[in-house]
Amino acid sequence: MSSCHRCGGVRNLYYRRSSGEVLCRRCLERLLIRAIRRSLGRIGRVRYGDPILVAEPAIPGIWFASSVVLLYKSVRDHRNRLLVSIDSRSSYSKYYSRLWGDLASELEVVYTDRYVDIDAMISRCLSQDSQLDRYVCLKKIDTVAGVYVSTKINIDKVAVLRSRDQVPAIAVLGVLLRDPSTLIETHLYRDTSAGVHIINPIHDVSQEDLAAYSYLSGLTLDIGFEGSRARALEVFRAVSDALSGLNEIIYRSRETAFSADRAIDFIDSRLSSSAKNRCELCGVKIDVGRDLCERCLFLAGSLKDLSNPL
Ligand SMILES: [Zn+2]
Ligand SMILES: [Zn+2]
Repeated sequence: MSSCHRCGGVRNLYYRRSSGEVLCRRCLERLLIRAIRRSLGRIGRVRYGDPILVAEPAIPGIWFASSVVLLYKSVRDHRNRLLVSIDSRSSYSKYYSRLWGDLASELEVVYTDRYVDIDAMISRCLSQDSQLDRYVCLKKIDTVAGVYVSTKINIDKVAVLRSRDQVPAIAVLGVLLRDPSTLIETHLYRDTSAGVHIINPIHDVSQEDLAAYSYLSGLTLDIGFEGSRARALEVFRAVSDALSGLNEIIYRSRETAFSADRAIDFIDSRLSSSAKNRCELCGVKIDVGRDLCERCLFLAGSLKDLSNPL
């Protein structure tokens, strides 16, 4: 019978392929919290007590709810208030509080739909011609909605949750489309011209570890999507399947993962060399005289009271 390689526990075990270890839920949690704290340390933007708004993705993965819990546990000692923006009109929003249980009283929920129409944003993305454009557009919704909401409630730290595995896929699409505003979605952190810091605390955590933690903790958000969200999920699946072999290649060794990060930085600097200004919603460099990049401008058509922007 197997037991946890770190503490010897025999319950709630997970075989972690990436390290060849067997871990129990508690040891896995410790490992993930350490990875998140390390990323926050590298970002160096989140100070003691700063409130952070977590942006809900347009199509939350099964591990969204558990990532919020992990982030909460990672910053709790620093007394960072954690707020989560949630679309109350989605068919599944009511499940969150049940999943979070006791923690739900500690997390502050901000209803995204007071400020932004996520469904309209999804429909806009789906109206694009190419599957790749639809995908990168959908991937940007959390940034655009999160930053917009943050400016409305005067919070200057927004967390978007993109696991380590999503980063190379988004980067490849950014290169294929020659689109810096897609590439910037892979960054560990970035600033917007309106002074919002966008951070990705799970930049170095794999989807597999997050999913395992979700299952072991009973925090799996396993829900059916309806309407435009169901169609968006099909786009995600089609493009993710096509790119699924990528992580096997990139993360086979630390060296390739490191050079992939360096390559993204390099391509990024080449694609956005001369621009001086930054997009108010996503932080990508844009020409002086403009407030928003093309993609944010396209999505921002769905923002409420745009006549009185940011
Ligand atoms: Zn253990
Ligand atoms: Zn933008």
